[in-house]
Amino acid sequence: MCGIVGYIGKRDATPVLVEGLHRLEYRGYDSAGLAVIARGRLQLTKTAGRVQDLRDKLGDKPGKATVGIGHTRWATHGEPNETNAHPHTDAGHRIAVVHNGIIENAEALRAQLTGEGVRFATETDTECLAHLVARELEASDEATLEEAVVATLRRVEGAYGLAFLDTKNPDQLVVARNGSPLVLGLGESEMFVASDVAALVRYTRQVIYLDDGEVATIKATDYHTTTLAGGAAGNSVKTPTVVDADADDYELGGFSDYMRKEIYEQPDAIRRAVMGRLDERFATAKLGGVNLDARELRNIKRVKFLGCGSAYYAGQMGAALVEELARIPADAEPASEFRYRSPVVDPDTLYVAVSQSGETSDTLMAVQELKRKGGQVMGAVNVVGSAIGRECGHGIFLHAGPEVAVASTKALTNMVVNFALLSLLLGRVRDLSAAHGTRVVNGLRNLPSQVAGILNAEAEIAAIAHRYAEAEHMFFIGRVRGWPVAREGAQKLKEISYVHAEAYQAGELKHGPLALIQHEMPSVVVIPADDLIAKNISTVEQIKARGGPVIAVTSVEIPDGLADATIRVPRAEPELEPILFNIPLQLFAYHAAAKLGRDIDKPRNLAKSVTVE
Ligand code: GLU
Repeated sequence: MCGIVGYIGKRDATPVLVEGLHRLEYRGYDSAGLAVIARGRLQLTKTAGRVQDLRDKLGDKPGKATVGIGHTRWATHGEPNETNAHPHTDAGHRIAVVHNGIIENAEALRAQLTGEGVRFATETDTECLAHLVARELEASDEATLEEAVVATLRRVEGAYGLAFLDTKNPDQLVVARNGSPLVLGLGESEMFVASDVAALVRYTRQVIYLDDGEVATIKATDYHTTTLAGGAAGNSVKTPTVVDADADDYELGGFSDYMRKEIYEQPDAIRRAVMGRLDERFATAKLGGVNLDARELRNIKRVKFLGCGSAYYAGQMGAALVEELARIPADAEPASEFRYRSPVVDPDTLYVAVSQSGETSDTLMAVQELKRKGGQVMGAVNVVGSAIGRECGHGIFLHAGPEVAVASTKALTNMVVNFALLSLLLGRVRDLSAAHGTRVVNGLRNLPSQVAGILNAEAEIAAIAHRYAEAEHMFFIGRVRGWPVAREGAQKLKEISYVHAEAYQAGELKHGPLALIQHEMPSVVVIPADDLIAKNISTVEQIKARGGPVIAVTSVEIPDGLADATIRVPRAEPELEPILFNIPLQLFAYHAAAKLGRDIDKPRNLAKSVTVE
């Protein structure tokens, strides 16, 4: 959460910073700001609004600065107003800092500094860092900015990605990472730093991912990295990598928002996920990133998926696939719960840490807890070089391409497609027959055109969504394969339309929630082509009998007039059906939100890439 950007070089820094913030806005958007050094002084511009407001405030006059830092905020400490917007400074306006994360001992540091006579201007946890660095520099004429930052961070507890600017050292930026992503971009006589390569790919493909505990000093023509641990082990050697992304990947390309663009990218995203990974001859999957041989795969006694939000629901769909295809017990758990509940870690369980960004703090912490307890864990991430991928050391790369909208669509789809591949692999070293394996291989190959078919029905789905968008509450009902689909469908509707949506297992309805059914409470009922069609139809009858409107989402023929609206889904291999069922529910949520005039890519109170607890 929150986007940081920094620049040092020969260009006018302001437009580079604003453009970078615009690319990072999905990470936080409750206020924005930047600081540059012009004629030896800090120039700050902040707004309580969006990056566009910052752009408007700055106007298009060319600036005089060639060094600066910027921030787009997702507030954790203090209201999202202009004062609390980053960058923050010391009282003398020598130091400016931008921060992503939470300083956990900020209260204690603030109390100490206040006791020493420092006056605070904001309510943020970040401001104390500017004061502390300034005091370190005042205390010793010889101290470099990097030394002052290192000394400060040794007193700091918490998570951060940071960038510091010092008016007395305008030829450099000092940045540091602990728990929040930070990547350096290496240009020709210019350097960049950002929370995500999205802000850099317009300028350079040569990047360096910083690790936790690392600090870097960046100058226009060189950089150097060190670790907080310091001493002889201080200097760290980093090898630049070339990012495999284009500036175009982050453009809207004719769509009015990223969510719809990403919904439409799903056929291609699925194609990329299966490309080169299906083995027709042996009716299995090849996953190059999974470092387990057939014997090790056979020794796995259980699989557990860990993720947050949609990644957790994708994990639930993955667990069903593992049980169905490999007949190994499998389940999913929110990583945020797992990390705190002192889990029993079993060495024969394969843990799969699922995260689009690969930076989700709760999931990363779960991975670290697992590793401490000797668990075997692999990552399932969409961002190469991200913390979870590196921490796990092996795993599955999702190949969804950059996902910018806060509400996940193509990344979720590719998670489940990848879990189908993993399940196939696990199944084929066990009892899954070649014939069944071939059916799944073919089923996976057919998915892109089936998804495209669903997208062709967008207008009908939109009309249904518009009809029900004014509802205050909705139920999403599913059973077995349909249950995680219902959960994900409810989640999507909630997060972008703010309509209260609750998911329920169909069989549980009569044990309580049926009491809520009345004519103003629509239910979306998921009816896949499984052995439970009759049961699901009787659920619809029970809702109808109590006056509740029903929207059926189904791949089977249901009696005419049974539902008030029906969304058709093509028939896939039964185990793969949840992948297809998600797609119309994404469109349903999208069009309900559009009808209600919501800001679809930037839903209230949320942000993508949740790097805070
Ligand atoms: N904790 C800081 C604040 O509330 C930074 C939050 C962020 O990551 O945007 O200002």
